[in-house]
Parts: sequence; C-alpha cells; structure tokens
Amino acid sequence: MRVLIHLDGSVADPDTPQVRVDDLGLLRGDGVFETVLVSGGHARELDKHLDRLERSAGMLDMDTPDRQAWQRAVAAAIERWPEGSEMALKLVYTRGLDSDPGADPTAFALGIEVSEGLLRARAEGIAVVTLERGIDTELAERAPWLLLGAKSLSYGINMAAMREAERRGAEDVIFTAGDGTVLEGPIANVVVADAGTLYTPPPSIGILPGTTQAGLFRAAERAGWSTKIEPLRLEDLRDADGVFLTSSIRKVTRIHTLDGEQLPDSRALHAELAAAYESEYPG
Ligand code: PLP
Repeated sequence: MRVLIHLDGSVADPDTPQVRVDDLGLLRGDGVFETVLVSGGHARELDKHLDRLERSAGMLDMDTPDRQAWQRAVAAAIERWPEGSEMALKLVYTRGLDSDPGADPTAFALGIEVSEGLLRARAEGIAVVTLERGIDTELAERAPWLLLGAKSLSYGINMAAMREAERRGAEDVIFTAGDGTVLEGPIANVVVADAGTLYTPPPSIGILPGTTQAGLFRAAERAGWSTKIEPLRLEDLRDADGVFLTSSIRKVTRIHTLDGEQLPDSRALHAELAAAYESEYPG
C-alpha cells in the first residue's frame, strides 16, 4: 500500500514515473526531507516536522516550503490511507531541475507502510554498533556548509553505516565523534535513561533535533522523569539503566546489545517509556 500526493495537491500513482531524470534531488541528493508517522489518522509532531523541513531548506539556501500546501498534502495522504494501520509519510523537497533553475522545487508526500523489521525492532529491541563519524563536536558551528544537523537527501553515508552494522551482526548504529562523544544514529537519536533521568546529546554538536526525542521527553516529564540535554560519552551508555534509539518510525526502540556486549535488561523501563510516549498522541 502506497499513496502519493504532489505538493500542488494532485494525487498520483506511485507505480508510474513521477520525477525527471535531471532532478537535482536525484542527481546530487540536493534537497531535504522529513518522515512523519501517521497513526490512528493523526500525523505525529507535524508542526515540528514542518519547522525542521523549513530549517533544513534554509540551511540549503532553498525557498521556504509552503507550509499550508504541505499541511494539505499530509491531510490528503491521510484521507487515502486505510484506517487502523500506521503510515510512514515522507515529505520530499528537492532543488528541482538541473535544466531549468527557475522551475519550482520538486515536492511530494509519499506514504508507505511501516516495515515488518521496524515493527519487530520496536517490540523486541535491537543490537547496535558504534561507528566513528569522523567529526568533532564543534564542526557544525565552524563549518555550516557541511550541513550537519540538516535533514538533507544526501543520506549515502547514513545508509552505508547501516550496511556496516549488518556486516557486524547488528541492526543499527550509534555514531561517535573522534573524541568518543555520542552523536546520533544514522536515522535516529540516542536517549539514555538513568536513575529517573532521560538524557540526549544537544543538537549543537551537529546532530538532528529529534521530534520523537522531544515528544518522549515531554511525556516523560509529565510522568515524573527529569530530562537533560547534555553531551554523552560512550561509557555513559554502558553504565545506564537503558539506552534507546528514537525516531518517528522507530518510536522508542530499546538497545539490548552494544558492540557485542549485552546491556542491562531494560524491558520494563522500555515498556514504561513507550507507554508514556504513546499517551502523548490521539488514536
Ligand atoms: N537523526 C537522524 C540523522 C535522522 O535521520 C532522524 C530521523 O529520521 C532522527 C535523528 C530522528 O528524528 P525524528 O525523531 O524527528 O524522526
């Protein structure tokens, strides 16, 4: 099941060609995107996703996306999706055509099903390896043209890291800076739970501000947890009560094994945090 809505509101067939071969998103990964979880007919954290799409587009010197048009496209996708199943809704916004620099950006919303693998990971947890990202934590501020912290379409490195994880017998990755500081996953944020406090690293070190992490922190605070956004080191992960990857489609996924070492059993903690997170949203 898939649904495709162009930003102009037209509904299209996702099984027929829609994008020109000289689209800069295709030729150079030049563009930005978001992936929104739609559950129970509700697009979770849509405002925050649209804020981040705007911010990413700004970092790439692209025109500001038309917020209302995106809201309409999201509503149209939800309308066409069967009730009762979750949808991963990708909002894609490229620089447009190489051959016609004045043309509008290419922009569409593509809804797809959540894969079996991700549903299993949410339920059972995952093994993760740490991989060096080759950056230092001041690089984002020093060199904004590297687009650290923008959700650009250039995800080749992120996908290569996921394949490296698979080669090492794991299902996901935590990137580290050269000095061992914890960054994020290729498609998720890192959240650590320890002694009644949730921790996540600050976006200023060159990582994406996560909408799921923010939603989880809001929910957890309401449930009596403290939350802190501060740098984390690898040792902090090994000693913690629980370590999680958060993303819109992963939700709160428990890490049971880190670099081949089993972490403390955090199943009860995960159940508590996952329930708090779900309580944030209708449906
Ligand atoms: N970090 C990266 C690099 C991502 O690609 C993503 C989402 O795909 C996230 C973090 C998590 O963001 P969110 O919770 O808003 O989905």
